[in-house]
Amino acid sequence: MTTRDTAMLRQLPSVDEVLRDRAAQDVIERFGRTAMVEAVRTMLSQARRDGEMLGVASCAERAAAELENASRESLRPVFNLTGTVLHTNLGRALLAAEAVDAAIAAMRSAVALEFDVGDGRRGERDDHVREILREITSAEDATVVNNNAAAVLLAINTVASGREAIVSRGELIEIGGAFRMPEIMTRAGATLVEVGTTNRTHIKDYVEAVTPETGMLLKVHTSNYRIEGFTKEVPPRELVPLARKHGIPLVNDLGSGTLVDLGRFGLRHEPTVAEAVAEGADIITFSGDKLLGGPQTGFIVGRKELIARINRNPMKRALRVDKIRLAALEATLKLYRDPDRLAQRLPTLRLLSRTREVLAAVPHRMGRWRARLSGSAFTSRGVPGASQIGSGPLPAYTSSSAGVDNRTSAQRGAGSRSAALGRAFRALPVPVVGRIEEGALVFDMRTLEDEAGFISNLGHFSVREKRDGLA
Ligand SMILES: *Cc1c(COP(=O)(O)O)cnc(C)c1O
Repeated sequence: MTTRDTAMLRQLPSVDEVLRDRAAQDVIERFGRTAMVEAVRTMLSQARRDGEMLGVASCAERAAAELENASRESLRPVFNLTGTVLHTNLGRALLAAEAVDAAIAAMRSAVALEFDVGDGRRGERDDHVREILREITSAEDATVVNNNAAAVLLAINTVASGREAIVSRGELIEIGGAFRMPEIMTRAGATLVEVGTTNRTHIKDYVEAVTPETGMLLKVHTSNYRIEGFTKEVPPRELVPLARKHGIPLVNDLGSGTLVDLGRFGLRHEPTVAEAVAEGADIITFSGDKLLGGPQTGFIVGRKELIARINRNPMKRALRVDKIRLAALEATLKLYRDPDRLAQRLPTLRLLSRTREVLAAVPHRMGRWRARLSGSAFTSRGVPGASQIGSGPLPAYTSSSAGVDNRTSAQRGAGSRSAALGRAFRALPVPVVGRIEEGALVFDMRTLEDEAGFISNLGHFSVREKRDGLA
């Protein structure tokens, strides 16, 4: 160390000097004294190590930035510009304002969760949604659990534990997150009996597999994939007579399911829960946060006697939902009583039903920021595109959309440069998540509603071209 360095270090302020600074007072107010002392010490020792001269004000400022950064929630809002409305990794359905209000009210105060306000006696938590679910689906009874995976597990465990469960080989799906139908069935205590082949299963396959040990027939909606070509599956309605004849329940896992005919909203038809009930399945399971557009929950609807057995299963207690989600769910379900306004009030349907014309206008409104961001490193232009629904329903179905295609102007290494561009957008105060498509970073406008918020967030955009590997 030179004498000059030593002299400089002597000039570094003390922790106390920094803490006495006016700017530091505000930081202490926000984050507490202990955290601020720790942050200032870190800044000073870094400066000492790097031989850097650091004044009182800039030390306080850096400590504040450090604390600000550390205080940011890890589970924080992002801009989902993937175009996938029900993106599992981004939290699936956005809740309607009515559901958000109901959840907040339930968080803030005591609620009549298992309490009958009428007679002052104990009530059941399912009572808050039972009636409306019966009304919408025409099922005899209904119950709610943590998610559809839990609904499937609980239903199988209740009716087929220690017995055989018959399912088509073409329906032994993996949903992701290690949810594999064969494993769930085994964990639920059932003995898996596979029938048919991957591409073709006939009613006679089921007929021949039924034994005195059979506990249920299981039908699974092949949510996330589609087999094309030489295929045959047995629809639930053809399984009903077989189930009735032997007195064994038919369980239909609809996956997403929907409570309304999506055709009404310009989308392709997806089996509704009411249709599945009408076909004659004894138990139907589906998700709360897929097409239904509510909080993460799973439903089991069907025959009264079976739902009663499910409710007596001790596992039910371990899989139940809390008051916050239940409040949001009740409010979400109530929106279905007014189908005419559903597409405006329920974000999932609102986003899914946005037309290409509406979406194509968005990139034009963003012309200015696109021009400002695009530079030597990349170009940004409006393009047509196709967005997916996500989370299973209508596999392989996309709807036409519009987007912004951001691609590097460099000739070589387009892939890694797009990845670098993606990192720069994700580093914004509200991270922006797009999708990589043919070497470009594409922002799909289907899932962007807060245009003003998006543009003001871009005010913080900075690519340091060399560092970020864009140049
Ligand atoms: C999505 C899905 C599940 C799992 O539902 P979660 O609500 O994600 O737990 C189960 N079965 C099918 C067919 C599905 O599509």
